[in-house]
Amino acid sequence: MKHSSVAIIGGGIIGASVAYHLARMGTKGIVLFEKGYISGGATGRCGGGIRQQWSTRGNVRLAMRSVKKFERFLQELGWDIEYKQGGYLLLAYNEEEAKTFEENVKMQREEGLDVEILSPKQIERRFPYVNAKSVLLATFCPTDGHGNPHLANFAYIHKAKELGVKVYTHTKVKALERKANNIIGVHTDLGYFSCEVVVNASGAWSKEVARMAGTDLPTTSFRHQILVTEPVENFMDPLVMSFSKNFYIRQTLHGSFLMGQGDPQEKPGINYNVTLDFERKIAEKLTAIFPFLEGLRIVRHWSGHYNMSPDAQPIIGKARSVENLFHAVGFSGHGFMLAPAVGEALAEMIVHGKTSHVDISDLGLERFEREVVREKNVV
Ligand SMILES: Cc1cc2nc3c(=O)[nH]c(=O)nc-3n(C[C@H](O)[C@H](O)[C@H](O)COP(=O)(O)OP(=O)(O)OC[C@H]3O[C@@H](n4cnc5c(N)ncnc54)[C@H](O)[C@@H]3O)c2cc1C
Repeated sequence: MKHSSVAIIGGGIIGASVAYHLARMGTKGIVLFEKGYISGGATGRCGGGIRQQWSTRGNVRLAMRSVKKFERFLQELGWDIEYKQGGYLLLAYNEEEAKTFEENVKMQREEGLDVEILSPKQIERRFPYVNAKSVLLATFCPTDGHGNPHLANFAYIHKAKELGVKVYTHTKVKALERKANNIIGVHTDLGYFSCEVVVNASGAWSKEVARMAGTDLPTTSFRHQILVTEPVENFMDPLVMSFSKNFYIRQTLHGSFLMGQGDPQEKPGINYNVTLDFERKIAEKLTAIFPFLEGLRIVRHWSGHYNMSPDAQPIIGKARSVENLFHAVGFSGHGFMLAPAVGEALAEMIVHGKTSHVDISDLGLERFEREVVREKNVV
């Protein structure tokens, strides 16, 4: 039998960030188990977008703290993660959406975020490659941006290892050993590890892991598809997104365009297939808004999963009825961008019992016993 202090389940960006922040705070004896390879889950399949323009204060605060940390990522971790602050341009296509955007901007400015509201004329002047014909207004935050999720995931893992974290890839956590209200050990492909604390950072498998602990989570996983085109000269700085038209698109540093949309008909569950229907629909929609896409070839198309919570906000904090199990799950399609702040906050919670940078007390499971406010800005 091996002993550990904290056993982290999941080697995506969340587990890696928690591991790094815990180790940096001086925690010894941390182990991280990943059933596949690092960045093989949603993290390595995501769009890499990093934005602070949310409709709920909790998400704005977490995202603003994350952006502060992304800005210092290279300095702090010594890894260039292709981080670029080219802004996010959010397009409103109807009166109701435009009104919501204006309300969001008011709240975001109260939180100290620099966001502009742009008229269609201003959009066309500043971003001439966007067909803004039926757009009512847009909001633009210049400090939003994007990064390379693989590199960020590897950076956290690499640094965590340097600080003493033992990372076991291709090692599944198969069961959790519970005694009264505590998890006392983890059964893995490599045998049994006793532990003092467990972190559930298992992404799309969050519910399955919660069940191993004899508890439950209100999370559900849905496939999301995404594609990338051949590269062209780099000209598009912001990530452009619409919630009512259901799309996001950005140009990578390499010149390719990455784009995705949600599918309201998607059934819950793990499904890595891709469909021609996705390519047809997104191509038809986006060539009308971004005429320069016409004729560009699609070079790759893949899928990953959103682990959804009932209010599309993450679930961070203690499990129900298990004292030493912490969840960092239910990221609802925005876990990459929140990972720096979440890793830091959860590490602080575990070590000190409270956070010192962002208050995450509203993100626990207790909120589902009250009436919740759903995050609206999700594709
Ligand atoms: C198409 C798409 C686009 C996206 N775009 C963005 C975006 O632009 N910006 C953004 O912020 N977010 C985006 N997301 C969401 C983002 O990818 C996720 O929220 C984030 O990666 C979650 O990280 P994670 O570490 O929780 O999960 P994951 O990266 O999925 O990691 C969880 C890991 O746990 C492992 N695991 C599960 N069960 C076990 C077990 N029993 N034992 C051991 N290991 C286990 C899995 O193998 C997996 O590697 C997107 C997602 C998709 C699918």
